[in-house]
Amino acid sequence: MKEIVVISGKGGTGKTTIAASFAALAENAVMADCDVDASDLHLILRPVIKTGNRFFCGHEAEIRKNDCISCGACLANCRFEAVKMNGDVAGEAEFSIDASACDGCGACVYLCPVKAIDFHSRYCGEWFVSDTRFGPMVHAVLAPGAENSGKLVNLVRMNAKKTAEETGGNIIITDGPPGIGCPVISSVTGADAVLAVAEPTLSGLHDLRRIMELARHFGIRTLVCVNRSDMNTGISEEIEKLSAESGAVFAGRIPYDDEINRAHDGGISIIEHGKGESVGRIREVWNETRRNI
Ligand code: SF4
Ligand code: SF4
Repeated sequence: MKEIVVISGKGGTGKTTIAASFAALAENAVMADCDVDASDLHLILRPVIKTGNRFFCGHEAEIRKNDCISCGACLANCRFEAVKMNGDVAGEAEFSIDASACDGCGACVYLCPVKAIDFHSRYCGEWFVSDTRFGPMVHAVLAPGAENSGKLVNLVRMNAKKTAEETGGNIIITDGPPGIGCPVISSVTGADAVLAVAEPTLSGLHDLRRIMELARHFGIRTLVCVNRSDMNTGISEEIEKLSAESGAVFAGRIPYDDEINRAHDGGISIIEHGKGESVGRIREVWNETRRNI
């Protein structure tokens, strides 16, 4: 079983367009949406949820008002300013904890003299195993304000692999998060290859360098394609040159294509839509990707 992760230096480069197209072109694939902070692969693949699971990460403290003796120890010891005091005088004031500011360090729970603080698991989102017209899909939604998306990404990948094993899938196509932060590292470590989708701008070139460094650091085979390549043919050539110099496989150029938006407006991939110059080019990128993993 192989795993290819489609990534990009920033959002809006066409990463999900490519991942959805690969889903349409692959046989026996399992799809994983690891862009849990801003997932949108579901808009094209329209998964039908089979199972949903809650995701918890860390803890959050909550004061039981009836048990609190208003000593102020939690306020004095919270480094994250999450404890709020309603009133001026300790002994009379009411204390509460702002869940969004609480880091879950547990200091107040430990120091409260009357053990009046509960320490709940923190709800951070949900992950799903679904069916799509192209095969199973594992995806997730991070709760508003929740962090630790790297853990959720790991969970999605782990379950995509498990689903592929159960269903006889031979390739996992992952829509990765943008950038080079923790969720991206969680998305690419241990994958067979990454396909970096670059756009032909100076910042796109800069982002691509950073992505390639990251992939090199983790020893992952790298393929590169340029999306909307005709917007700046000079930089597109530079991207191709950079790929060759860095030992990456250049998988192709995809021109700007209005038909992509039309396809997505109809909730289908550009491959299913079948119209537009990009269709053949994306097929070429897929064939090159398949040859190299
Ligand atoms: S758990 Fe830590 S961060 Fe949260 S309120 Fe208590 S001391 Fe502050
Ligand atoms: S440390 Fe415990 S008793 Fe003291 S104010 Fe905080 S919750 Fe209340």
